[in-house]
Amino acid sequence: MTAGLIIDAGTIVTMDPAERILSPGWLEIRDGSIVAMGAGTSPRSAKGTRFDARDAVGLPGLVNAHTHLFQTLIRDLYDGLPFTEWLRGIYHVGRAMDDEDWRVAAALGAAEALLAGATTVVDHQFLQRGTAWSEALIDGAMGVGVRLALARTAMDSGILAPAEALEDEATALAAIDTLLDSHRGAIGSGMLRLLGGGNTPGVSASGALTAAAARHARERGIGISMHVAESTTVLEAVRSATGFEGVVPWLDGLGALQPGTIAAHAVHVSADEIVLLARRGVAVAHNPVSNLFLGDGIAPVAELLDAGVVVALGTDGASSNGTQDPWENLKTAVLVSRVRGNSRWLTPREGLLMATINGARALGMADLIGSLEVGKRADIALVEIGHAAHAVGTHDIRSHLVYCARAADVRTVLVDGRVVVDDGRLVGLDVPGLLAEARGRATALAQRLGVSD
Ligand SMILES: [Zn+2]
Repeated sequence: MTAGLIIDAGTIVTMDPAERILSPGWLEIRDGSIVAMGAGTSPRSAKGTRFDARDAVGLPGLVNAHTHLFQTLIRDLYDGLPFTEWLRGIYHVGRAMDDEDWRVAAALGAAEALLAGATTVVDHQFLQRGTAWSEALIDGAMGVGVRLALARTAMDSGILAPAEALEDEATALAAIDTLLDSHRGAIGSGMLRLLGGGNTPGVSASGALTAAAARHARERGIGISMHVAESTTVLEAVRSATGFEGVVPWLDGLGALQPGTIAAHAVHVSADEIVLLARRGVAVAHNPVSNLFLGDGIAPVAELLDAGVVVALGTDGASSNGTQDPWENLKTAVLVSRVRGNSRWLTPREGLLMATINGARALGMADLIGSLEVGKRADIALVEIGHAAHAVGTHDIRSHLVYCARAADVRTVLVDGRVVVDDGRLVGLDVPGLLAEARGRATALAQRLGVSD
C-alpha cells in the first residue's frame, strides 16, 4: 500500500453511468486506483496527501482513439494534397526514418497528449520493419508516461506504398505475437494494449490480409484497428477491385467486423452500413479535424450514435491535423455536426462521452478507464477554470469544457494514479532536451525526404 492522494476539486465531471457532476467533489487515490469519492469536500477520515484543486474541474483523462505518433516529426509537410497523393507521401516517409526517429516522435507526441490531458493514446502504426519500430514507439510513448494502445497494423499490397513498407501475412502476424510475448507485464498492468489489423483495406491491405488479421485477433483476444471508408477514393478502389458498393459490406464478407474492431473515420458509410457496424459491435474513431484537413467529408456521427455504435474521438496523425490537441478536436466534432446535411446537432454531453468513456469502450477498457468511479484506475485531468480570460464566466460545465477549454488550461494530469503533469509541466522528463532532439530529427528527416523548405 502506498500513501494515498486526496484531490479536492471545484467540480468533478465523472462520466459515470449516471453522468454525475459533483460540485464540489473529492477523490481518494491509492495504489493507482480511485478508492473513494463523493460530493462536497473530502472527509477528515480520508488519509493521504491532500491536493487542492478547488479552482479546477476534474474529469477522466481523455482518450485519443486514433493517431500516428510518427507524424509529429513531419507536421506541416504534405499540406494541400488530394487524399491519394497525400497518402503516397506518407507511405514513403518510412524509407527515411530510423528506430530513433520513431522513439523520439512517439515521446514528443505522448508529451503533447499528456500536457493536454489525453492519458490514453491509440497509435495506429503502419510502415513496419518487423517489431523494431513498434518497440521504439512503445519505448518512446510509455517512457513519457502515457497509457498506450498500439495497433500494429500491416500493408501487403497497392500501388501507393513502397515495397519496403509491405510485408506478408505471416510476417505481420508473427510480429504481433512477438510483441504480445515480450510485453506481458505492461499488458497485464493495463498500461499497454496491443491490437492488429490491415492498415487501409482496399488501398494498402488485401482482403486476404484483412481477414487473416481479424482471425488472428479473435484467436489472441485482441482488438483490431483499420482505416475504413475515409475518402471516396477508398470506396472507388474497393468497388473496382471487388464490385462491392461500400467498404463495410466487403469487410463484413471477409469476417473482419467484430467486437474489438475500431473503424477509423467511417466518413462514407450508408444507412445500411451504419446498421451493420452497430450489429457487429464495431466502434468508430471519429477524426473531425483530420477529415476537414484532407477534405474527406464529415462522418455521420449522430446517425452512428443513434444506431448504437460506440463513437470515440481521434486526432489522427499530425500530418492531417497539425497538432495532437484533443480539445480542439472535441470542439470541432461537436461544431462540424451542425453543417452536415440533415444530421442532428451533437451536444457537448455527447462530445465529452466520445472523448472519454467511448474511447475506453472502443478499446475494451471501460472497466479500467474512461470515467471517474471507485475501482477504476486514476487517469485524471484537472482543468483550471476562472483564471484565463477565456475561462471566466462559466455557466454550464459541459459547454465550458467543449467550447472554451484549451490544452493549456490542463494543469495537472494523473495516469494510473501517478502525477505525470504538475502545474503544467511534465514530471521527470527533460522537456527542453526532448524538444531539441525532436527538432533536429524533424529537420534531418525532411531533408532526407527532399521536402524541406
Ligand atoms: Zn489515420
